Amino acid sequence: MSNPTTIAAEVAERVKLVIFDVDGVLTEAGIYVGSTPDGGSLELKRFDIQDGLGVKMLVWADLKVALVSGRQSEATSIRALELNVECYQVPDAKKLPVVEALIQKHGVSWEEVAMLADDIPDLSVFRKVGLKAAVSTATKPVLDIADWIASKPGGRGAAREFSDALLSARSQLDDIIELYVEERSRL
Ligand SMILES: [Mg+2]
Repeated sequence: MSNPTTIAAEVAERVKLVIFDVDGVLTEAGIYVGSTPDGGSLELKRFDIQDGLGVKMLVWADLKVALVSGRQSEATSIRALELNVECYQVPDAKKLPVVEALIQKHGVSWEEVAMLADDIPDLSVFRKVGLKAAVSTATKPVLDIADWIASKPGGRGAAREFSDALLSARSQLDDIIELYVEERSRL
């Protein structure tokens, strides 16, 4: 794709599965590390509410959505549960086997997969997907091969921007918003 700020309709329309990395994509890449009063470890992450709605909008548009993280974190599990999407947290960032299994499970091809990514742990999967999307704060190896680049950073609106751009390119964005408002206008 020549213009990294636009998603071509023919690319958007073939997408069936959307993969989000977590750290640096749905978060700003920082983690809060501390301990509980009884000495247990505690990890907190900040997720963006507008990004979360963007993830849900993709589900409402009948797309399959999965979070694929290269780290294990209870905060990520809680957020995935809240968003009601599949979540895989693979040790040592070995994401490719997990995504290959996901592709088989959903019966899709690599061309039909989109991914929003930020860093080199994503590359094994990112290089193979049909729509490569990057947050503005992604590292150079990811930005260099991205088809689409958000104007916003990870954890601060990039996921929502991507969701809006993908749905808009599929001519679904207005319908999803109207359906949302309509459902919340009834008693
Ligand atoms: Mg990341």
